[in-house]
Amino acid sequence: MADFIPLSVPNFGAREAAYAAEAITSGWVSTSGGKVTDFEQQLAGYLGMPRAVAANAGSSALHLAGLAAGIRRGDEVLVPTLTFIAAVNPITRYLGAEPVFFGCDDTLCIDPDAVERFCAEQCAFRAGKLYNKKTGARVAALEVVHVFGNMANMPRLLEIAKTYHLTLIEDATESLGTHYTQNAGALAGKYAGTMGDIGCYSFNGNKIITTGAGGALVANHADWAEHAKHLSTQAKSDLLQFLHDEVGYNYRMTNVQACLGLAQLERLEEFIAIKKARYDQYVAALDGKRGLRILPFVEESAGVRPNRWFYSLYTKGFGIPRDEIIARLQAQGIQTRPVWALVHEQADYPKNAAYGLEKALDYRKYIVNLPCSTNLSEADCARVIDAVLAL
Ligand SMILES: *Cc1c(COP(=O)(O)O)cnc(C)c1O
Repeated sequence: MADFIPLSVPNFGAREAAYAAEAITSGWVSTSGGKVTDFEQQLAGYLGMPRAVAANAGSSALHLAGLAAGIRRGDEVLVPTLTFIAAVNPITRYLGAEPVFFGCDDTLCIDPDAVERFCAEQCAFRAGKLYNKKTGARVAALEVVHVFGNMANMPRLLEIAKTYHLTLIEDATESLGTHYTQNAGALAGKYAGTMGDIGCYSFNGNKIITTGAGGALVANHADWAEHAKHLSTQAKSDLLQFLHDEVGYNYRMTNVQACLGLAQLERLEEFIAIKKARYDQYVAALDGKRGLRILPFVEESAGVRPNRWFYSLYTKGFGIPRDEIIARLQAQGIQTRPVWALVHEQADYPKNAAYGLEKALDYRKYIVNLPCSTNLSEADCARVIDAVLAL
């Protein structure tokens, strides 16, 4: 059988090996040693933010974001349902809060119309805060996930957050590098993750750059970023006496991970160019063929430069069920997968309300994610294309 083509794997080379060797030979392999600060500064510089806070995972960064944002037991948070479960649990159940779920628009990101309708019709202000009329809970925050490297409709979502006094949390774990361009008006030049109150990134092995496992956050409130850093380091207020002024966590990134991150960050723009080249190859060969579509990203012409992290083959018109497509490709050594099961249908959320689900249900049923590693060669991409067309 021909070589196995995985869905999404790391792209490490000589630079990652050299930088990590620096950490190993210096002996600074744990959470001290200076490279974490270097990585935080490089990342902040890339994003045009004053400060970034590194963490040991994107999930940890999201938990820290929810803590820094002051989400409390009994609060409700408005979240998308078409996403990875780690977008939801760390900012809701970890904090004793409950999610209210929403479907998506054609960017696959949370649908601003459904969110706005909910806030206008089902909620009311009391003393400047928004409350859910049915449950009586405070609606504390709105979370947007920039799905698969696309950009959510930030002008609308920022407006909704402002009108309804909601903290805006951005899960940009899949969208490092996605930004508004010069055509975008007021948000020109802004990166996914930097427009809300607080935003999170992931450097898990399948993301566009990776530190093996890792994450980071940025905030538009300097004190929130500092608080998140403090919480990520066991909330130690006296280094010698081991005094802790609140309940903290060990969510630190290691020096070795930071070295990998520094190497990967230098290659991010190269990776985004490869993502576009392979995406264009899939579009040219598959979009419109035999009823198939390759779902579009919001493009430059509409004021966005997406990182195109994950590619979505939309199979509604193809005549072969999603899971059969996946199984038959797997048998030929090609790994694909369905989009996530909707979070509101997961075991822990049977009682949580969900609104505006029509598109999310449809995309859930028909999307197959295609191999998208940045080390996927043009020839291997062609093999995936031929295998799909031969089904
Ligand atoms: C990857 C991911 C996370 C979590 O990041 P980890 O680094 O794996 O903890 C959260 N939300 C979304 C949407 C993700 O894709």
